[in-house]
Amino acid sequence: LNNIAVLTSGGDAPGMNAAVRAVVRTGIYHQLNVFGVMYGYRGILKNEIFPMESKSVANIIQRGGTILKTARCKEFYEYEGRKKAYENLKKHNIDGLVVIGGDGSFNGAQKFSQEFDIPCIGLPGTIDKDIAGTDFTIGFDTAVNTAIEAIDKIRDTADAHDRLFVIEVMGRDAGYIALHSGIATGAEHIMMPERKTELHDIIEELQANERRKKLVNLIVVAEGDETGGANEVARRIKESCPQLDTRVCILGHIQRGGSPTCTDRILASRMGYAAVDALLEGIHNVMIGIVNDKIHYTPLDKAVKAKQEIDPEWFKIVKILAS
Ligand code: ADP
Repeated sequence: LNNIAVLTSGGDAPGMNAAVRAVVRTGIYHQLNVFGVMYGYRGILKNEIFPMESKSVANIIQRGGTILKTARCKEFYEYEGRKKAYENLKKHNIDGLVVIGGDGSFNGAQKFSQEFDIPCIGLPGTIDKDIAGTDFTIGFDTAVNTAIEAIDKIRDTADAHDRLFVIEVMGRDAGYIALHSGIATGAEHIMMPERKTELHDIIEELQANERRKKLVNLIVVAEGDETGGANEVARRIKESCPQLDTRVCILGHIQRGGSPTCTDRILASRMGYAAVDALLEGIHNVMIGIVNDKIHYTPLDKAVKAKQEIDPEWFKIVKILAS
């Protein structure tokens, strides 16, 4: 192993910079030449590949986003595109590639590594936490903490006006951000794709709450919940409970940005280090995960989008603590 490259691909997540930094510095420590690729796979195709030094990653551990930028790349879905990518990487004699991204990016890396002789290592970077083979993903903790900061603020104003707030959080078709932020902010109800919620049960409870003058009502809805998101939930509540002052807040892209939390910086540092370690050990075409606080390798073809089991006890806890 002599020359490795690192890129960030797909959806961005806070902590990606800390991972890039770890890959670059660990590579340099082992006397490898480390190249950065701009804009994910698109950058390989456009030959936006440049040598990185230790100081290229100075002062980025605390920054959200990704200095390498990210993008989606249609050509990489086709063999011809991947072949061109291979040729461009070969121009720089790259013999190892670290891909920081989500399951889509791992799919691409899996195909590429089957067709060509450049081993790939994946690092899970997504705020959604929905990847098999790891307990946590880079960016999730930061996104959840951003969500709870925002929801705490909404609670203040909800309390001042005795309003009901329906708050939508991100997560695509996973509900982890909703579950964690909902529990941490004391939401009365959490609606998420992993568990069907009957809206009429919620409405009945809201009416009962009103009778006993419960003042703050927060409902956290995952964007992927099958009811159709916060706007639809609020519309149906207003229909049945016109007496309630019901408002909607969709947190949106603030959840993707910001300085990564300590947990995400440590996760990213550890995973970035482990990625270079794996390449040096000859462990190829795996995603680096952390399971029960230990580094865990998952073959790239098994590093797919996965819903981890959600213990039903969590919903009991939500109900008891918010009553
Ligand atoms: P994420 O990595 O966040 O899941 P995407 O699903 O958009 O994001 O994937 C990022 C990029 O990975 C795509 O734009 C494409 O270039 C590449 N990719 C995704 N899926 C495949 C696939 N099945 N085959 C080849 N390349 C893929």
